[in-house]
Amino acid sequence: MDLGIAGRWAIVCAASKGLGKGCAKALAKEGVNLVINARGQDALEGTANELRALNASIEVIAIAGDISTPDIQEAVLSACPHVDILVNNNGGPPPGDFRDWDRDDWFKAVEGNMVTPIELIKATVDKMAANGFGRVVNITSGAVKAPIDILGLSNGARSGLTGFIAGLARQPELASNNVTINNLLPGSFDTERLQGNLRKTADKTGTSVEALREQRVQGIPARRFGNADEFGDVCAFLCSAQASYLTGQNILLDGGSYPGTF
Ligand code: NAP
Repeated sequence: MDLGIAGRWAIVCAASKGLGKGCAKALAKEGVNLVINARGQDALEGTANELRALNASIEVIAIAGDISTPDIQEAVLSACPHVDILVNNNGGPPPGDFRDWDRDDWFKAVEGNMVTPIELIKATVDKMAANGFGRVVNITSGAVKAPIDILGLSNGARSGLTGFIAGLARQPELASNNVTINNLLPGSFDTERLQGNLRKTADKTGTSVEALREQRVQGIPARRFGNADEFGDVCAFLCSAQASYLTGQNILLDGGSYPGTF
């Protein structure tokens, strides 16, 4: 299916690896010009080259730096001639026990996973509405729907974003001007982050990474982890011309793990 977005411009934050990269690849295949961001310059340039090789007809601009900082947000926005599509993503807050977290830990989580996407949305959605087309996809987490106790910082900050988006997406000045805002909620995806978490748990518990992986996978009805490319394909569909009536939704991609009817 042609998604009808060739020639548009997208910002994909935190996109040198993992889920953000999956989204950038899927958009590149659809002919979308890209501004991608991540902190590490080398991996980011490597991904930019991969995207250019995927589709020689698109422009790819790489902006290295921490997307949680106003300077890098401004640099990413200025690099994009006009923002038709915004994919918000960032590193996730660390796991832990809430008794060990202080105000700064909470402010950092809220800044990275709630305020940063809101700032980027604020800078872009009214222009999208004026142009009659806009797509915002926020990468959040399955933990918004089914909280994970050790991920309290993530549960809290991302739920704040989710509540805000639920109201914003329904503003008629956006929805009636073909601007949609949706959240994509990953379950377990086989990215560097997941692999790193498995290694940490293996070191702590003395269990092998393979055994932990098998145990986790057995808890997923699909009996496998998701991969970043299939995540990206769903993101690209949310950004498509066809998805113009789909807004304010939380789309869970978890291989059937969430046990509820809705
Ligand atoms: P990943 O494989 O570790 O990739 C993270 C990407 O984000 C990298 O490109 C990284 O590059 C970039 N990044 C991290 N912090 C950044 C920052 N401050 N500014 C700019 N770029 C930054 O992680 P992932 O698995 O794709 O996860 C992406 C998001 O989804 C995270 O918030 C994660 O918590 C969430 N999530 C993932 C899963 C899963 O199963 N994978 C499940 C639920 C939620 P640099 O390090 O070079 O900056």
